Amino acid sequence: MPPKRAVSAKNAEPSVKLSTRGTTRLQGRHPWVYRSDVVEEKDVPPGSVVRVLDARGKFLGTALYSSSSQIAIRMISHGSVPDLPALVAERIRAAIAYRKENDLVRNTDAYRIVFSEADFLPGLIVDRYNDVLSLQILTQAMDAAPVRAAIVQTLKEELQPAGVVERVEARIRELEQLPPLPTALLWGDKSSTEVRMNGVRFCYDGLEGQKTGAFLDERENYAAAAQYAHGEALDAFCYQGGFALHLALHPAAKCSSVTGVDSSRSALEKAERNALLNGRELEWIEANAFDLLREYSASNRRYDTIILDPPAFAKTKRDLDKALGGYKELNLRAMKMLQPGGILVTCSCSFHVSPTDFLKVVADAAQDAHKSLRIIESRGAAKDHPILLNVPETSYLQCLILSVSN
Ligand code: SAH
Repeated sequence: MPPKRAVSAKNAEPSVKLSTRGTTRLQGRHPWVYRSDVVEEKDVPPGSVVRVLDARGKFLGTALYSSSSQIAIRMISHGSVPDLPALVAERIRAAIAYRKENDLVRNTDAYRIVFSEADFLPGLIVDRYNDVLSLQILTQAMDAAPVRAAIVQTLKEELQPAGVVERVEARIRELEQLPPLPTALLWGDKSSTEVRMNGVRFCYDGLEGQKTGAFLDERENYAAAAQYAHGEALDAFCYQGGFALHLALHPAAKCSSVTGVDSSRSALEKAERNALLNGRELEWIEANAFDLLREYSASNRRYDTIILDPPAFAKTKRDLDKALGGYKELNLRAMKMLQPGGILVTCSCSFHVSPTDFLKVVADAAQDAHKSLRIIESRGAAKDHPILLNVPETSYLQCLILSVSN
């Protein structure tokens, strides 16, 4: 009896059949297939590992299945996957090795270790903040208890953290029809620590703040912006002071004053604490940056350096026009306020705003502001946030460093 059961269990391994369009998408090396391209699925449990077949039944590989997301499957292997937790452990080790072997992470103890699809682990994000690791689980398959156990165990073995924190995005768990969970310490006894980026010190609290607590994708851009920043500087969406502190403290920066603006009081309190940690006091203003820039530009307030790093204005394709309007207004006001020779660092973290759209909107703003701008650097996310070619969704952050002339 036991052997027979084993055989029937194998036969019962869930599978999905794709349309020709879905198959073509996978052949283009994009790991996602939408539900509308799944032509056959029978009794596939939520979060299961599924065999993926083309319309004629030919085996294409193995994927993680979601019963609720529009993205029905995310490919995880071109072969069979008999043991998902073991594969996840192996991929985590590979992601760590990729960063080490290519020397991708420099001058910091805060960086991304696993970036979901870009590290072939769809639905898993892990960031390292010195001795505290912060992870996000975004899909049904990654949420399964044995997979969770393998993730934490591998991270412990490979990185010896003092604590592992899970950051929960309630909306994503809802969309994936997963039971609600609190953001909490998963393992160990430490959820807050201190990190360094480019010689600047930051407090880190794994149980608070946005994203996994900080915007590690901007880390290399902080140092780049500091190379050109000078005079009076304004960081208009400063959060906990990532750019502002670099402009004030990085050895390359030549700023006489730095002001940080954010609409979130708690973010500013952290920014102030970070400045004090570095032995500096900076000016922090709680305000809506749109209103403040409008007011300052109307009263002819001038700056030498302005940083614009707003939240993603286009969360979906439908928001695109409104988002472009928002980026244009901000950039226009900033350009008007910059002295000749001034530096504008302008970012977009909206995936739906393409590099071409963003350049066009900044160029339109320059036209309306009657200014000429030269691109000093055109940048993206830090190298520990890999961009997987053929998966445009892994490329979302743009950062232009511009010099302004009349
Ligand atoms: N530059 C920051 C990240 C900015 S994230 C860093 O590198 O750490 C975007 C920030 O914009 C958030 O802190 C959010 O609180 C703030 N924000 C959102 N809308 C705003 C508005 N209208 N005015 C000012 N700040 C705003």
